[in-house]
Amino acid sequence: MRWYGSHARDLPWRRATASPWAVLVSEVMLQQTPVARVLPAYEAWLARWPTPPALAAAAPADAVRQWGRLGYPRRALRLHAAAQVISERHGGEVPSSLDALLALPGVGSYTAAAVASFAFGQRHPVLDTNVRRVLARMATGQQWPARSTSAAEIALARSLLPARPEVAARWSVAVMELGALVCTAARPQCAACPVAGGCAWRLAGSPPGAGRRGSQPYQGTDRQCRGRLLAILRDSDGPVPPARLDAAWPDAAQRSRALASLITDGLAEPHPDGGYTLPAHQPALAATQPATQPALTATQPAPPGHQPALAAPAQPTAQ
Ligand code: SF4
Repeated sequence: MRWYGSHARDLPWRRATASPWAVLVSEVMLQQTPVARVLPAYEAWLARWPTPPALAAAAPADAVRQWGRLGYPRRALRLHAAAQVISERHGGEVPSSLDALLALPGVGSYTAAAVASFAFGQRHPVLDTNVRRVLARMATGQQWPARSTSAAEIALARSLLPARPEVAARWSVAVMELGALVCTAARPQCAACPVAGGCAWRLAGSPPGAGRRGSQPYQGTDRQCRGRLLAILRDSDGPVPPARLDAAWPDAAQRSRALASLITDGLAEPHPDGGYTLPAHQPALAATQPATQPALTATQPAPPGHQPALAAPAQPTAQ
């Protein structure tokens, strides 16, 4: 905690002035996306939609456009859907209870715990990729956490939390920051680590562990194709003729698959006059449930890097 007090980055969503809505926006954006990329998008998003009702009143297509190239654009639709539910059922204010947060579209266990902790000072285990890595090394002597979050891991994280809720919330963000800045995946700086004296993995001689996942390829994937097609829809004011999409990606089968998945995800739709556009309406809420943030139970996939993605392979990334 002392280390955090003197080394924490000044990030806008950590300031006392950050509203619960700002914290929720930051948590969604940080899933699978690095802080440096999130910062400008976060500022622009909140400048345009400073409250949930402001976003709820906008068109889903506007949310997708504003999301821009942040990646995993279904997060924009889910945030829009969450804003609608917050406006309709919670008087326009982000709810504070874990259950109410979990009931919001697109909010999984990690995001709910993070918002409850960081916006409302509650005591919940907040297990993003960075926290999981630090706890694996420090507490269990493993270089890498298991692929999926286990009940034992959740219990361990809960047991380590300070008793006072407001201290627990600060402790969680401190561990998150330690993972982001010191106990990094590739090069842990043990000599500068404030908990090195009690780190089980270091005391065991830093044995190499199994289980680290490599980064996922992007070039040539369906995900890249989806991004290429969505960028065209995003930059167009009207329906995009199929020929323009055809010209954007040479592999017809892959292009067709990617376009179909965009439509299924509610990110694109056929226009009655031909061609395709961004969504005019929010898809059914059931379709906006998080794909990468299931409830925080045993066997749940961990949120990618607190900075991980809602729909694709995810792990929340660091704050
Ligand atoms: S001593 Fe090294 S491995 Fe252990 S928590 Fe610190 S940085 Fe991570």
